Parts: sequence; C-alpha cells; structure tokens
Amino acid sequence: MHIIDKIRSKDGKTQKFLQITEDKYITETTFVDYSKYLLCYSSQVGCPVACSFCYNGVNKNFTRNLTKNEMVAQCTNIIKHLDIFDKDKPIKFGCMGVGEPLLNYENVIDGITELDKKYPHSIFSLATTGVKPNLIPQLAKDIKDMERFILTFSLHASNDETRKKLIPMHQSMFTLRDAANKYKNITNHEMCWNYVLLDGVNDSDKNVQELSDFLEKGDTVKLTHYSPIMGSNLKSATQDKFKKFKEMLEKKGIEFYEFNPDGKDINAGCGQMAARKQVICDKEI
Ligand code: SF4
Repeated sequence: MHIIDKIRSKDGKTQKFLQITEDKYITETTFVDYSKYLLCYSSQVGCPVACSFCYNGVNKNFTRNLTKNEMVAQCTNIIKHLDIFDKDKPIKFGCMGVGEPLLNYENVIDGITELDKKYPHSIFSLATTGVKPNLIPQLAKDIKDMERFILTFSLHASNDETRKKLIPMHQSMFTLRDAANKYKNITNHEMCWNYVLLDGVNDSDKNVQELSDFLEKGDTVKLTHYSPIMGSNLKSATQDKFKKFKEMLEKKGIEFYEFNPDGKDINAGCGQMAARKQVICDKEI
C-alpha cells in the first residue's frame, strides 16, 4: 500500500490521500488538521451495504475487505508523508471511510489495536450501520480498555420503512436499540446516533417525533449535513428545515450536536470517499 496522489481542499486543512494496494485497488483516506489530527480511513475496497446517500452504495463497487496491515498502512503512510507532524497533537483515527467495519470485524479490531499501540493516547471512532448487531457486544468487550473510543450508529431514519430505503442491508431500529443497550451495559465509552438530514426524506415534524420516541435518556444525536454525491437525487435538508429540526429536538430535551463535514469540494466528506480499480497512474510520491 502506498500513496499515489493527494488532493487539497480550499479550506486549507483537509486533504484526501489516494493509496494503492498491491492488487491495484485505490482506496481513499481523509486527513483534517483540526485542533486534533483526524484520519478517516477505509475498511473495505467498496462497500456491499449499498446506502443510497453514499458514493459506494450508489456505485455498488464492493471488491474485498482490506487487511489489518492495509488499514494500518493507510494511516501510517500519511503520518510519515506530512511535512509537519506535531507529535504532541492528539490523533483521532476514524474507521468511517469506505466500507462497513462490522463486515470486516477481525481485521478492523486488529488494526485499531495496532494503531493504539503505535500512537498511545489517540482517540478512535468507528461508524456502523449496525449490519451485524450480534458483534456489537463483542465490540464493547474488545475496546473496553481503550483510553477513548466513540461508536457511531448510522441511523439516518426515524422509522424502519425509511431506513430500509436508505440502507438496503437493513437491520430494524428495534434490533439496533437492543444492540446499543447491550453495548452501554458493557462499556462507558461514548456512543451516538448519526442522522443525516435529507430534504423531504427524514426532515419532517413527524420524523422528529419518531426519533424522540426511539431515543432513550443519555442518547446523543449527531445531526449531519449531507455531502452530495454524483448519481443520487438526494439533497440536503433546507436551512429552514435543519433549523426547525434542531429547535424541535431542543424542545424535546434531546442531546444533539451538528456536524458539517469538511472537504466536500474534494469529495472527502461523509459518503463521498470512493474506492476503484487503478487504471492510469502508478507514481509514488
Ligand atoms: S455509507 Fe458506509 S455502509 Fe453505507 S454504503 Fe457507504 S460506506 Fe457502505
């Protein structure tokens, strides 16, 4: 695995790295220089979950799982490549790029364990649609002793009918609730529910009501701005709808925070990162 290209965002802090595997698949990793370093890396070449709001879902490009070594190399290659790397600045490793981590569970956990050893005091986060709910208690046990770990459930809907349309490899919300509660019984690590607000899909008053019925005390919602992708008609909720949704959550006393991904101009936002077979260049930088 080595870096073949990098693209810089206009924002000056986000870069997307393209890296190639031995068998010539290109995988993407997003790096953002915040008050912490964020490295959002991929766990699969493509993804079989087929979410309708994601480039890899729409393009149905699943090829194979990435190995532990490939996942670790994605991150270490970038850290070595940076002109300036402040060793005192915390790193957040996000297993949130291309792929569904629970479909490649052992490699993902081994990769996180190795990165944790290499970069002590780092923060780890993992996002899952919950496609294999039986692995969630196992995950809780496996990461229990880590310093800081954040689990994000990609919920994105307030009812099963909508969720099924958005995430075809679907698990019911009841199943997710059960898995989340088992997780919380095993570990105190942070957990949140990611909800990308989509125009006319999941942004109504009824959706707020359903969402609040689903959530339990202590739950947090990550309210995400959509990153548009080619080949999908989905659009971000309007500013007015976003504002109203937030106001209604507030009124209901639901904990939430807003997340607007950086790097949308270079397709480095959530759901925009891609995987594909290499066709042209093979230069090492
Ligand atoms: S959003 Fe995640 S789980 Fe869904 S298709 Fe994209 S990479 Fe896969």
